[in-house]
Amino acid sequence: MTATMNLPREAGRSGVSPSAAGNRLLASLPESDLRHLAALFDTVTVDVGEVLYEPGQPIGYIYFPDDCLISLLAVAEGRMTLEVGSVGREGVMGASVALGHELAQVRAVVQRSGSASRMSRDDFCAEFAQLDSLQRLLYRYTDTLLAQAIQIAVCSRFHVLEARLARSLLITRDRLQSEKFHLTHEFLAHTLGVRRVGVTKAASALQQQKLITYSRGNIEILDSAGLEAVSCRCYELVKDVGAIGMANVFI
Ligand SMILES: [Zn+2]
Repeated sequence: MTATMNLPREAGRSGVSPSAAGNRLLASLPESDLRHLAALFDTVTVDVGEVLYEPGQPIGYIYFPDDCLISLLAVAEGRMTLEVGSVGREGVMGASVALGHELAQVRAVVQRSGSASRMSRDDFCAEFAQLDSLQRLLYRYTDTLLAQAIQIAVCSRFHVLEARLARSLLITRDRLQSEKFHLTHEFLAHTLGVRRVGVTKAASALQQQKLITYSRGNIEILDSAGLEAVSCRCYELVKDVGAIGMANVFI
């Protein structure tokens, strides 16, 4: 996976209504607040594999994904990675700047191409300080993202790879709303913090049980209930409507 920072393409300037574009966090803000914020957003398009943040690098922009999906990877010794969360249309990336963190803590890599509403760090910090609605929403969101990262830490230490792979595939299925998707062995190795051979072995085990097919990065879930049965309990907790799922942010 490349560590090169790529700049997303600009798809349009302000005037685009972020709520119309589909970010769930923005859509749940009061209309007057959203109208006020709309002028500060650009809409950008991001492509699979693009690196939006690198650990230790300054955060220049805050992203509210519309239909893209961004993977958050913790990095050890510059090369080993583990996915500690992902951000789609339910979320925001980079909001920690409002808490005083100017540097990224994780590598952010685009997992699915799409568009996002983007705001500069300075504008975001100024608006966050003023808007109660944005503060309440982002505190709940950040707390949920942290709870999920804690669960993933537990999962990575105590649950077997086959169960973790099943959990990861089910979460990806939910996020992409499709039983078929493309994830290379290399990408899965980066998200699960293991070598590619480990992914191959675990995926083969799931294939032999006729739960999935996996060829050249093309995955199809054949038996959803069966895959949930072999997944660790973490899927039940972190899925959208789970105890620490993102649906809790919007209650
Ligand atoms: Zn687990």
